[in-house]
Amino acid sequence: MRAEDAFPARGIARRPLPRRSLRLWSVRHARALAAVYRGFERVLRGAHPLFARIGYARLERPVARVELAVKSALFDCRMCGQCVLSATGLSCPMNCPKGLRNGPCGGVRDNGHCEVHPDMPCVWVQAYAGAERMGAVARMGEARAPIDHRRAGLSSWLQAARGDVAS
Ligand code: SF4
Repeated sequence: MRAEDAFPARGIARRPLPRRSLRLWSVRHARALAAVYRGFERVLRGAHPLFARIGYARLERPVARVELAVKSALFDCRMCGQCVLSATGLSCPMNCPKGLRNGPCGGVRDNGHCEVHPDMPCVWVQAYAGAERMGAVARMGEARAPIDHRRAGLSSWLQAARGDVAS
């Protein structure tokens, strides 16, 4: 059986990845982007009282739309609703065709590419490179809980504003 036939149900393996070069650019600039995000996160936390007054439920849809636009451009984000980018060198693990969120499978090729998509650099090899640039390699070893699909599509930015982050 071909590896790509082994994972048809998720639909991820067959999806084209047109922005891959920008995703790789983001990992190459992980240190600077992480610094920008830390500043943005402080703004989000500062906005919590305002967001609470408006109502997080009311904000969810418009904020998630903006978040999707920004993060899909930079990271090929799939809006899993439990963002772990800060612990994975800004390499989104949801681009792994096997959906692995705790490290690579045993099939990484000698050139650091994916077993399923031979032309795609393994997201976990990229994650390590990004984490080195961020000085956050230690976070790579953190255990991440299985993904909760009920949170798919929810804004991670609003979770950060509430102080409720996945990573
Ligand atoms: S971990 Fe989830 S929220 Fe974060 S970039 Fe990847 S799909 Fe998007």
